Amino acid sequence: MATDDTEAARVLRVVEVIEETPEAHSVVFEIPDDAQAAFEFTPGQFLTLAVPSTETGIAARCYSLSSAPHTGIHQITVKRTADGYASNWICDNLSAGDTIRVLPPSGIFTPKDLNADFLLFAAGSGITPVISIARSALETGSGKVVLFYANRDEKSVIFAQALADLASKYTDRFVLVHWLESVQGLPTPQHLQHFASHFLSYTAFACGPAPFMKGAIEALKALDFPRERRHQEKFVSLGGNPFGDVEEMQAAQATIKEADDHDEEDDAKSTVEGPISVEVELDGQTHIFDDWDGKKLLLEFFEEKGLEAPYSCREGNCSACACVVTEGEVTMDHNEVLDADDLADGIRLVCQARAASQTLKISYNG
Ligand SMILES: Cc1cc2nc3c(=O)[nH]c(=O)nc-3n(C[C@H](O)[C@H](O)[C@H](O)COP(=O)(O)OP(=O)(O)OC[C@H]3O[C@@H](n4cnc5c(N)ncnc54)[C@H](O)[C@@H]3O)c2cc1C
Repeated sequence: MATDDTEAARVLRVVEVIEETPEAHSVVFEIPDDAQAAFEFTPGQFLTLAVPSTETGIAARCYSLSSAPHTGIHQITVKRTADGYASNWICDNLSAGDTIRVLPPSGIFTPKDLNADFLLFAAGSGITPVISIARSALETGSGKVVLFYANRDEKSVIFAQALADLASKYTDRFVLVHWLESVQGLPTPQHLQHFASHFLSYTAFACGPAPFMKGAIEALKALDFPRERRHQEKFVSLGGNPFGDVEEMQAAQATIKEADDHDEEDDAKSTVEGPISVEVELDGQTHIFDDWDGKKLLLEFFEEKGLEAPYSCREGNCSACACVVTEGEVTMDHNEVLDADDLADGIRLVCQARAASQTLKISYNG
């Protein structure tokens, strides 16, 4: 039986595994009473699973919740990746009654207002967070929902029936458009732009393979969708282990940093000297600190101060720790998720942030 090795991770029991398509399995978890609060989520968020691995101990992988929060169900949907480790392990091994360690919900691919009108783009397994948003908006919101859903062929369409049911129940609020590569070829940026041009006032969310997302985001930019109405979720595999003992990880990072400092002495001289004052808005509260040395990663500083700042991968691969810098600046050691527009909007990854100004104000409230 697995044990918890971080405060946040919980051992969850699988209550059901559903074969959605030959390549995709949904996994439903039971959330113990004392973990209900920690596992509350908003549509579009993901869980991080510790998939056992004989080679590396665990492979940590993020999976978006495909269920809608108001149903009280915590369900992820995993599609096999060719030659991928964790996705195949989950589809081949997990069954009802099994347990697995899971980190609480995280992520910022979430609508601020479920009453808005939504333009949703999904391809393949990218439907997972998107169906959670669509269902939540239709069943608890009041706006319109339009979904452009691309797949290789008919048998690879995940949630075909559930989406058809939503379409027949919400005839006046939900437009569902299936695009099959086997019939129509790959959707081009021009196709996506033409489609999106009918819904210029909607809030857009896109999730799918990299070329599809690139096409969707380019289309939205070409149509002048403002940044705050344009969201994307990138599916990448984590390289590190957010389940590991935090102090051990910090010690390891400090050792690496020490080696880097030694190798890059000139760079170290140019960093801002502490103490640096930091004002942070989190969960509606403002916290002020005046003793960040600026070299320690900002997330580690917050942890030392006992601040419950959000994070997941700790390596700049997901966006769970994203904040907006409203005054001052930070540099990031590593960034795999934020694009040029995100950076221009002041969005930064706290797990990768080091000081670049004497005072800093950030907000997690977006
Ligand atoms: C926020 C977020 C949400 C996500 N939600 C979902 C979801 O809802 N559903 C879903 O199915 N997935 C989701 N993912 C993706 C998921 O986390 C995994 O990335 C995916 O399942 C693949 O993991 P894997 O271990 O099977 O593949 P990996 O073993 O990580 O391999 C991925 C690919 O890389 C190649 N590869 C592996 N190692 C090497 C190497 N050393 N050199 C070269 N190539 C290599 C493999 O051949 C494979 O093609 C999400 C990711 C993120 C960040």
